[in-house]
Amino acid sequence: MSQLFRAPRGTFDLVPPRGEAILAVREAMAAPLRRAGYGYVETPTFEETALFVRAVGESTDVVSKEMYSFTTRGGDDVTLRPEGTAPVLRAALEHNLHRGPVPVKLWYSGSYYRYERPQKGRFRHFSQVGAEAIGTEDPAIDAELIVLAVDAYRALGLTVRLLVNSLGSDESRPAYRAALQDYLRRRDLDDETRERVELNPLRVLDDKRPEMQAVLKEAPVIADFLSAADRAHHDALRALLTDAGVDYEDDPRLVRGLDYYTRTLFEFVHDGLGAQSAVGGGGRYDGLSELLGGPRLPGVGWALGVERTLLAVEAEGRALPGTGGVDVFAVPLGEVAARRLFAVVTELRRAGVAADMATGARGLKGSMKAADRSGARYAIVVGERDLADGVAQIKDLRSGDQAPASLQTLVAELRKRLGAPDA
Ligand code: AMP
Repeated sequence: MSQLFRAPRGTFDLVPPRGEAILAVREAMAAPLRRAGYGYVETPTFEETALFVRAVGESTDVVSKEMYSFTTRGGDDVTLRPEGTAPVLRAALEHNLHRGPVPVKLWYSGSYYRYERPQKGRFRHFSQVGAEAIGTEDPAIDAELIVLAVDAYRALGLTVRLLVNSLGSDESRPAYRAALQDYLRRRDLDDETRERVELNPLRVLDDKRPEMQAVLKEAPVIADFLSAADRAHHDALRALLTDAGVDYEDDPRLVRGLDYYTRTLFEFVHDGLGAQSAVGGGGRYDGLSELLGGPRLPGVGWALGVERTLLAVEAEGRALPGTGGVDVFAVPLGEVAARRLFAVVTELRRAGVAADMATGARGLKGSMKAADRSGARYAIVVGERDLADGVAQIKDLRSGDQAPASLQTLVAELRKRLGAPDA
């Protein structure tokens, strides 16, 4: 006998009721964006490899270690997307969206792929809901995006912490980079870190090893190097967040794993998740368009991790709305009744009532068990005698009460009992 296949390492299946729960999380993330005028965009799950190398940065872990890259039969080098910003900006430029009214506000939802070391909350295939606002430098748009993410977490009943930082623009970064390099070169570091100091010193700030955290404690912080304009942008953002009643923590050492960020940087953290505590994050990427061959075009965006957010919801013991189930479950006794109830269930569904029925010859006992498991409020039972009388028995599965109702008006009766609006 051959062995059962399993989902590949670092991936997982979502089966009911968690399958429904993940949809509810996605929906909660999308709703604030729709209310704020963001338009839905979909791009392919793979892109030219060079897009990510250019945008995310060659020395990042994402590009150097985690990409699912391959050469197609036709000889093209492609990569399963590890993130959403570069593809969405690529699409906006390709379709000239930036030549219309700005900011171009877009949102998306989909699968991402990173060859990471799997652990709780860290997968090789995961999903994100993301949003991007392209074409304005106004800090109000940074604040808007942050508030929309906060509203999504609130709608899910989650308590998350918001960390903010500014990485500065090209005006501020070179001096900071030099100061950080100067500081780090004078420390005792391993070879790999030493190399990183020369190549991409800001990446070193992301090193979570305790010995490195100790080294970094005294390191210079970007806040002391911000130009007047960068400082004004960051202060404006913080004031808007305060006005919106959004609490935040300044985290002068916050950096994220992608190189394209400028100025605003933020992360949402949930404290019930252990090591992989970031449930979402984002920032500004004012130089990215030019890196992709486009015009100078500022932008800001975020991506929220859908699975990690679901884990946070579960860690807090929260229930999610609309996790499946039906309202009515039909139980036929005999073939003629089955045919009749098939028609009734079809009519119920077309009238907007979630309905299901017992199939196969299960008998009354087995079918009633299925009705209970279905989560339905009402079971409708029809036997030969009922058919002869032109009725169905409606059983209230909560109270146990049962009463006959005319088959002719059964759908209307059930809709009335369920409080459905008039058809
Ligand atoms: P990033 O694209 O790295 O900014 O990540 C945004 C969010 O996506 C993170 O805060 C996580 O919630 C989620 N995420 C990123 N990588 C993974 C992964 N390997 N597994 C699960 N979730 C992830």
